[in-house]
Amino acid sequence: MVNYKLLTPGPLTTTDTVKREMLADHCTWDDDYKQITQKIRRELLELAHVTEKDYTVVLMQGSGSFGVESVITSVVGDDEKLLIVANGAYGERMVDIAKHARISYALYEEEYDKIPSAGKVEEMLKNDPSITHVAMVHSETTSGILNDIASVAEVVKAAGKTMIVDAMSSFGGVDIEVGKLGIDFIISSANKCIQGVPGFSFIICNRQKLMESAGKARSLSLDLYDQWKTMEKDGKWRFTSPTHTVLAFAKAIEELKEEGGIPARSKRYYDNNRLLIRKMKDMGIQAYIGEEHQGPIITTFFYPEHHNFSFQEMYQFIKERGYAIYPGKVTDADTFRIGNIGEIYEEDILKLCDIFEEFFARMKKKKAS
Ligand SMILES: *Cc1c(COP(=O)(O)O)cnc(C)c1O
Repeated sequence: MVNYKLLTPGPLTTTDTVKREMLADHCTWDDDYKQITQKIRRELLELAHVTEKDYTVVLMQGSGSFGVESVITSVVGDDEKLLIVANGAYGERMVDIAKHARISYALYEEEYDKIPSAGKVEEMLKNDPSITHVAMVHSETTSGILNDIASVAEVVKAAGKTMIVDAMSSFGGVDIEVGKLGIDFIISSANKCIQGVPGFSFIICNRQKLMESAGKARSLSLDLYDQWKTMEKDGKWRFTSPTHTVLAFAKAIEELKEEGGIPARSKRYYDNNRLLIRKMKDMGIQAYIGEEHQGPIITTFFYPEHHNFSFQEMYQFIKERGYAIYPGKVTDADTFRIGNIGEIYEEDILKLCDIFEEFFARMKKKKAS
C-alpha cells in the first residue's frame, strides 16, 4: 500500500470516506444512478453561481484534457477561429488540440511568469475580426500562476466573442462567478479541487452557446452537444460511465459542502500555500511566481543554490517521510513544484517543512565533510 500523501495537483489525496464509496459496483441504467448524475450536475451549477435557465452541465469520460478537447473540437466551427492565450503547458496543450483537429487559431503567448494582458487580447480581437472564440487557462498548473480571467472575459464579452476557460486546477478551490464573468464554457475535472478521483471531466456550459454548437463536433466520443443531449434527458451517460468515480465524486461534493463550501476550502488552500511559501523562503528557497499572481493551488520553487543538490535525492528523502512532491515544468529555470490541494492541512505543511529543513541540513553537511 502507498503510504505517502500527494502534494501533486491531481490526482490528489482524498478522504477515506470518498475512497470507500468506490467499494460498490453500481448499475448504470438504474434510476438511482441516473439521479446521482443529475444531482452532481445541479450541484456543479450551484458551485459556479449559475442557474439551470442559463447554464447546463456536461460530464465527460476521461481526464481533464478530454474535457478541454471536447469543448474546443465541439464548439469552434469549421468557418470559425479560436484565439488561444497561453502562458504555460496547459495553454500550449490547447494549441496542440487545435492543430490535431485542424481548427483555425491565433496564439497570444505570454511569458510563464507573467499573466496575459486583457489589453493585448482586446487588440488582437480588434485586429482580427475573424476570431470567434477565446480560450485561456485560469490556474496555470505549470507554474502556479493565477491568471486574471475576469479582465480577459470582460474584453471578450465586449467584443461579442465566446469565452472558454480551462479552470481545471482552480474550480472548487477558487470561487468563480461563471455567469457574472460571462464565461461560456468552463472546464474542470473530478480529481482536482472538488477532491474526487480521476475518471471524468465536467463542463459548465452557457445553454444558448451549447445549443448553437450542435453538429459542429469533429469527434464522436468527445461530442459535447451529443453527450449533453443524452444526459439532459434523464441523467444517462452516452457510453459506459466511470461509475466508481461518479460515486466518489458525489461524496466529494458533499464533503466540500460540509467543509463550508468553496470559500472555506479556498481559505484552507490559500493559508497553507502562503505558510509553505513563507517557510520555504525562511530556508532560502524562492518561489518562481511573484506574490501578486501566485495562486493557492501549486507553487514552483527554484532549486537551492548548492552544488550537492539533487532533485531525485530530495524527492526520495521526502517520499520516505510521507509526501510525494512534483518536478518542475517551467522551461526557463531549474525548479520543483509543491501542490497543496486535496486533504492537506497546516500540520502537513509544517511537517513537510521540517523534512525539507532536515534534507537541506544533510545536503550542506555532505559538502563540509
Ligand atoms: C490537470 C490539468 C489539466 C488536465 O490534465 P489531465 O492530465 O488531462 O487531467 C488541464 N489543464 C490544467 C490547467 C490542469 O491543471
